[in-house]
Amino acid sequence: MSKFFSEKYKNLIPYIPGEQPRDKRYVKLNTNESPFPPSSLLQQINTTDFADLRLYPDPENTALAKAYADYLQVGEENIFVGNGSDEVLGFVFSAFFDLNNKVAFADITYGFYPVYCDLFGIDYSLIPLNQDFSLNKEAFCNIKCGVVIANPNAPTGIALNLSEIEEIVKSKLDRLVVVDEAYVDFGGESAVKLIKKYSNLIVCQTFSKSRSLAGARLGFAIADKELIKDIKAIKYSFNSYNVNRLTEKMGILSISDQQYFSKNCSTIIENRDYLTNMLIGMGFDVLDSKANFVMAKNDLIGGKELYLQLKSRGILVRHFGKDRIKDYIRITIGAKAEIDLLLSAIKNILEEL
Ligand SMILES: *Cc1c(COP(=O)(O)O)cnc(C)c1O
Repeated sequence: MSKFFSEKYKNLIPYIPGEQPRDKRYVKLNTNESPFPPSSLLQQINTTDFADLRLYPDPENTALAKAYADYLQVGEENIFVGNGSDEVLGFVFSAFFDLNNKVAFADITYGFYPVYCDLFGIDYSLIPLNQDFSLNKEAFCNIKCGVVIANPNAPTGIALNLSEIEEIVKSKLDRLVVVDEAYVDFGGESAVKLIKKYSNLIVCQTFSKSRSLAGARLGFAIADKELIKDIKAIKYSFNSYNVNRLTEKMGILSISDQQYFSKNCSTIIENRDYLTNMLIGMGFDVLDSKANFVMAKNDLIGGKELYLQLKSRGILVRHFGKDRIKDYIRITIGAKAEIDLLLSAIKNILEEL
């Protein structure tokens, strides 16, 4: 740390993204990217689009907001477009929470939430997941402050259904509920349908996972128009041109390829079922996932040990040091061939024990 770093950040512990190693090519099942390329319609990006890069993008990303609004059957005024949903979540945390308006989230959930709280000086509390890693719905209904729920949750993959989310939203209409739906396309139920009925709900989505656009950085908030205006006020106080021209066009093209999107989501779900059954057959406990990853543990080997052994065999999965989940590894659902490589490596490792 330099002597110039602001005092107010002296205790900041930044988020640590999953490994993106460059030393060799791994079977990469650690950061929930898609194994499939984005829609081939993206090839329509042409020399005019590149020439247009000399111009700033539309700060409202009107064409993209309209395309996604139509897709979700909401109004354009209900959509905020961001540079990945991490940015959207950052704007949401800074717009609506602070020292007096605190926020609560699960003890085991997306690791970025407490980092935003530290960065923006937000007070927060943790609501422990139940023993079986399901969300403690009653506690979320009862707490008076704003709440953030990843649904399906990360890194467990466990999801609440829409009626459970609605119960939490309507239990207290004077506090905000943020639902982070990064993984909703893999079998979860989206809360987007509720935004017309409830003005205390914000749904965040991303094109990083189900639409294979992690490298393009595109995320959304969907909410009542007054909430969207507040989020825009933060954006226009920070970076008016947050989504670049090429990403905007890629987003529009991706939305227009509904068939490819649905097919990829179904394949991931099939592969998830296949992996889950194979792991159970090998003596693993596997949490019931509605996401593009599974959490699994085997009593014969610790989570960290299994992660390291797989890495030495060229396969990357994710291990979290947190006490409650340290026995588990989280495996991104890859293509069938990648899953088979993983399974044979695991078989090997278990045999060598
Ligand atoms: C991946 C992920 C995000 C961030 O996605 P980006 O759009 O790539 O920034 C947000 N929330 C959760 C729970 C995620 O897993």
